[in-house]
Amino acid sequence: MTAARPRATAVIERVVDGHRIRFDAETSRRMAGVRQRDTKPELLVRRALSAKSIRFRIKNRDLPGSPDIANRARGWVVFVHGCYWHRHPGCHRTTTPKRNAAFWRAKFDANVARDARSRRALRRLGFRVVTIWECETKQPERLARRIGRLTVPSS
Ligand SMILES: [Zn+2]
Repeated sequence: MTAARPRATAVIERVVDGHRIRFDAETSRRMAGVRQRDTKPELLVRRALSAKSIRFRIKNRDLPGSPDIANRARGWVVFVHGCYWHRHPGCHRTTTPKRNAAFWRAKFDANVARDARSRRALRRLGFRVVTIWECETKQPERLARRIGRLTVPSS
């Protein structure tokens, strides 16, 4: 008998934040993806900024929420958010696993609350905060509009 490939319905058990959680294959794949550095949506935003000769720094760990992209002198920061983990409202990517739904809702709520705290803290420091969603990075015109907001003079 040959070893069968894991099917889409395969369940994987892992320990997350001290909880033993069973994942379906789709959720597990997402979790693996989120750990990667320089995720593709962020690269798309960086590329779009560079194309407009807009200068920026990445990995701004000393700012609240570690914005993905920032230009301190010009007073703006950009978060490039994955729709799934950061819960893009109304987005088709913002699904919730059926298994352990309560656990996931708590985790997602914590992510959303943390994002809101970071934005508030940055605004208090005087930054213009722009959030660009993963799905927007796949739409060049929309991405260009979002990036355009960075260069509008402050009111
Ligand atoms: Zn989205």
